[in-house]
Amino acid sequence: MFKVIKTITGECPVCEDIKKLSYGTRVETLKINNQNIHVKTKAYRCEDGQHYFYNPADEENKFQEAYRKYRELNGLLQPEEIKDIRGKYGLSQRALARLLGWGEITIQRYETGALQDNAHNIPLLFINDTNNFEKLYEARKPFLGKKDILTINKHLDKIKQLTLFSSFNKVRPRDMEYGRLARIHRLQSIGDYQYRKPIRTREGELAIAS
Ligand SMILES: [Zn+2]
Repeated sequence: MFKVIKTITGECPVCEDIKKLSYGTRVETLKINNQNIHVKTKAYRCEDGQHYFYNPADEENKFQEAYRKYRELNGLLQPEEIKDIRGKYGLSQRALARLLGWGEITIQRYETGALQDNAHNIPLLFINDTNNFEKLYEARKPFLGKKDILTINKHLDKIKQLTLFSSFNKVRPRDMEYGRLARIHRLQSIGDYQYRKPIRTREGELAIAS
């Protein structure tokens, strides 16, 4: 199904000639890692040849949208979620790569929309939990610069202050019910909670170029 937005006369790259063209939207199925992903894309249709072609920005958007859907279906972090995890600890792209023992360009590629490897997704989920991050940080400190270490320490202090404050507020009503021991236990269990998906701070959808 092709839904026409506008009709123009222009050059068709397939026919290599001036043709009557329609610009509009269609649903396409892309195969990503053997999985069918349906995306709505913008395209040109050559009315004579009955074929489609894209401008580069629309084609890029098509893939970005397909990757977003694929990540959503497969429990992979979105680029902005990776950025959020990195930002939480005050890491530069380079520092995060060093911490994880990856190539320096990897994080940058993921944050700008390249589809991540599942083997790379797991360590990122793992360090979203501050306790896990701290364990890895201790082990990988020798690979980080002095400036990075200072920045990370500052961020970790802030996270701990915030966690303690929110735990305290959450715990108070229970404290009345179960006494001080229950409260301490509750504080400890909050301290080693399991993985939680990061909150998305930006709009999830990509803006589609007009
Ligand atoms: Zn054509």
